[in-house]
Amino acid sequence: MLNDRDRIFTNIYGQNDWRLAGARARGDWDGTTAIMARGRDAIIAEMKASNLRGRGGAGFPTGLKWSFMPKVSDGRPSYLVINGDESEPGTCKDREILRHEPHKLIESALIASFAMGAHTAYIYVRGEYFHETRHLQFAIDEAYEAGLIGRNAGGSGWDFDLFVHRGAGAYICGEETAMLESMEGKKGLPRMKPPFPAAMGLYGCPTTVNNVESIAVASTILRRGGAWFSSFGRPNNCGTKLFSISGHVNRPCLVEEELSVPMREIIDRHAGGVRGGWDNLLAVVPGGCSVPLIPASTCDTVLMDFDSLRAEKSGLGTAGMIVMDKSTDVIRAIARFSRFYKHESCGQCTPCREGTGWMMRVMYRMVEGRAELEEIDMLEQVTRQVEGHTICALGDAAAWPIQGLIRHFRPVMEERINAYKRTHGEGTRLAPTPANLPVPMAAE
Ligand code: SF4
Repeated sequence: MLNDRDRIFTNIYGQNDWRLAGARARGDWDGTTAIMARGRDAIIAEMKASNLRGRGGAGFPTGLKWSFMPKVSDGRPSYLVINGDESEPGTCKDREILRHEPHKLIESALIASFAMGAHTAYIYVRGEYFHETRHLQFAIDEAYEAGLIGRNAGGSGWDFDLFVHRGAGAYICGEETAMLESMEGKKGLPRMKPPFPAAMGLYGCPTTVNNVESIAVASTILRRGGAWFSSFGRPNNCGTKLFSISGHVNRPCLVEEELSVPMREIIDRHAGGVRGGWDNLLAVVPGGCSVPLIPASTCDTVLMDFDSLRAEKSGLGTAGMIVMDKSTDVIRAIARFSRFYKHESCGQCTPCREGTGWMMRVMYRMVEGRAELEEIDMLEQVTRQVEGHTICALGDAAAWPIQGLIRHFRPVMEERINAYKRTHGEGTRLAPTPANLPVPMAAE
């Protein structure tokens, strides 16, 4: 279990002052200029040594990502864009940083931007995070007034401006290139890659897009050392991480723990255990609704990290855990995810635009059992035709939860279909009744 002295986010619950005075008392903005005086290469080397992997879901090594930015400008400015468009169901970690630890993010944004040669950074915040944005903007204003950012930030000799950009509520704008389009004032449609943002990002200039948590931990890592951070967890899965735990637990919560903590330990110790006891557990979605669920039998032993969850054909994602007890209609739960992805598809590429709608409609028939047994395999095949055949990862995110359902709960789906058959007889399953349509959003 992580010791309190090793926590990076010491005010994540907002029990103390989130403003500049409180942040300074907790150690933020301590020696920032000295860190920058080490130079760009030393900062990036330290970040690489920390083995920090991106906390937004993809898990790409952060230090390596920073090193992709051009060392010498070709005349174009470089930008850092911080992704605070947290919209994945089950995930609620970045909002706590924004409202309770904004100075940790601002200080880290300055250091990260310096390391990447960027004089300007943007924080793209989910539009619904209104109060979070107010805190963040207040903290930015404080930092400007105190001379910590702006011209000659903190006496470092580096000019640095930081802007908040509020989104308009589209999940797809959390995809990095869609976010750049949105910031340029266009529709949030993901771009084809390459070119990658490091070569041609915001306004056609070199850009790095990092998650809020990935950036916010940087100042502490550089203060305490990459070796300190990488001492937590296990190789390739290092450091501390914010875990949000929701669903059928006794105390839904957000907690900072070291990576590779056993899933059972984090649920029992921090979330008060599964409602009705561990034996009442049905399944857990470990990383936000885009990753496949894992059944209770696996939850006993799996570790909350990239490799352990991948070995179970799931993923760490955002570490937004959704716990389902045995009262859950698991088919309906996954159908609801399908509805979400159908709603959020930008419609740019055919497998996603058509596939998400098709999968959702079949999933809602599966909820009733109004389907043929063979359609389970057909549904699985369609998920494979969507997965990996789209411009961005939303297609994968729509496919994976269904694959997880079929992998682990096929007998439940079959029994649902057989029960419908027993009740309604043959020939009625594919009848286009009004129930063929998904239930209205308000009824969910
Ligand atoms: Fe848009 Fe879906 Fe294609 Fe992504 S995968 S670009 S969300 S249509």
